[in-house]
Amino acid sequence: MHKSIPQRRNVDCSAPSSVPLLDVNRGNAALREEFLAAIAAVCDSGRFLYGPDVQEFEQAFAANCDVRHAIGCASGSDALLLALMAYDIGPGDEVITSSFTFFATASCIWRLGACPVFVDIEADGFNLDPELIEAAITPATKAIIPVHLFGQCADMDAVNDIAVRHGLKVIEDGAQSIGAEYRARPAGSLGHIGCFSFYPTKNLGGFGDGGMLTTNDDELAARLRQLAAHGMQPRYHHPLVGINSRLDSIQAAVLNVKLTRLGRWTSQRRANADRYHRLFAESGLDRWLVMPEQLPQRYHVWNQFTLRVPDGQRDVLRAKLTEMNVGTEIYYPIPLHQQECFKSLGYEPDSLPETERAAREVLSLPIFPELTAAEQQLVVSRIGQARQTRRAAA
Ligand SMILES: *Cc1c(COP(=O)(O)O)cnc(C)c1O
Repeated sequence: MHKSIPQRRNVDCSAPSSVPLLDVNRGNAALREEFLAAIAAVCDSGRFLYGPDVQEFEQAFAANCDVRHAIGCASGSDALLLALMAYDIGPGDEVITSSFTFFATASCIWRLGACPVFVDIEADGFNLDPELIEAAITPATKAIIPVHLFGQCADMDAVNDIAVRHGLKVIEDGAQSIGAEYRARPAGSLGHIGCFSFYPTKNLGGFGDGGMLTTNDDELAARLRQLAAHGMQPRYHHPLVGINSRLDSIQAAVLNVKLTRLGRWTSQRRANADRYHRLFAESGLDRWLVMPEQLPQRYHVWNQFTLRVPDGQRDVLRAKLTEMNVGTEIYYPIPLHQQECFKSLGYEPDSLPETERAAREVLSLPIFPELTAAEQQLVVSRIGQARQTRRAAA
């Protein structure tokens, strides 16, 4: 009997129907054998802490940031904490930073008994507004923590000028910005200490937690290393009270494999950002949504592609995109000065207007290196559809 082939509409089976916000497996899958070999070598060596993998990674990382020293630690959060500990920051001290950031930027200040002083951000770039820093300085101010948010450096010339004039330390929170540059200088080399994270969603993500400190100061490097190892020097002598915070050999082995690919992944992220800009311009949606821009003198590494949705439409758009299987995220919905744990700092509503507006408007889209052109087209066309249904309903 003659069997007929079922008639099908013109369906392209390779066309994506959903887009994840992030898919770490795509990048990792291609390197699986290298990872397993590197981890097996650690297993066989029996050197799980302070081994050659960690040394190799620290040296390569320092070269990448164009600094003399890189010191591994257990997380980006610990890097920030250790940086403040190295400067003996504690009760009675104030540290100026952004409220529009991940919690760890400020919790390190609080944990040491010091006081976080939040300064508003610039509308472009989402980083500390240098024009507002000086007014926040008091005799108790010890340091500034500029955050290089979403992959783009803060205005570091302005921050450093202020710091020099007032004798303040500058600790870069570069957790989202490994490989980013400001005036052709890498993040991590722009202040006194740089702090980085290898949390899996960062541009250089490990298989768990990990962090790094960078500095050009030899003495400071030794002090940071000592503080990360219980303040011990020599063995069982503790001139300082440190913490236990180490980058372990397995993480370092994995990160050594990945670091050699970071440049290519960054280029892919940048190409994805360019493509979004083209697609949003072609669709005209850039007249509604506010696109993220690379500011002058910056090399943006696009840890996030974060646009603004005006007119209180952000949450509606996000809900529709979730329904249409497009992954998005809000970094960050509640600024730190409005967190319950910092209530006692006494910030009133509207005290940081640009920060609070950003928290209401921002939406981050998929931007990871292996994201395909077809997926980006789908993201943009779904946003267009969501916009249409809103119009039709209005
Ligand atoms: C991820 C992150 C941190 C903390 O890093 P962990 O490794 O997760 O502790 C700190 N600051 C910013 C801006 C971050 O994005």
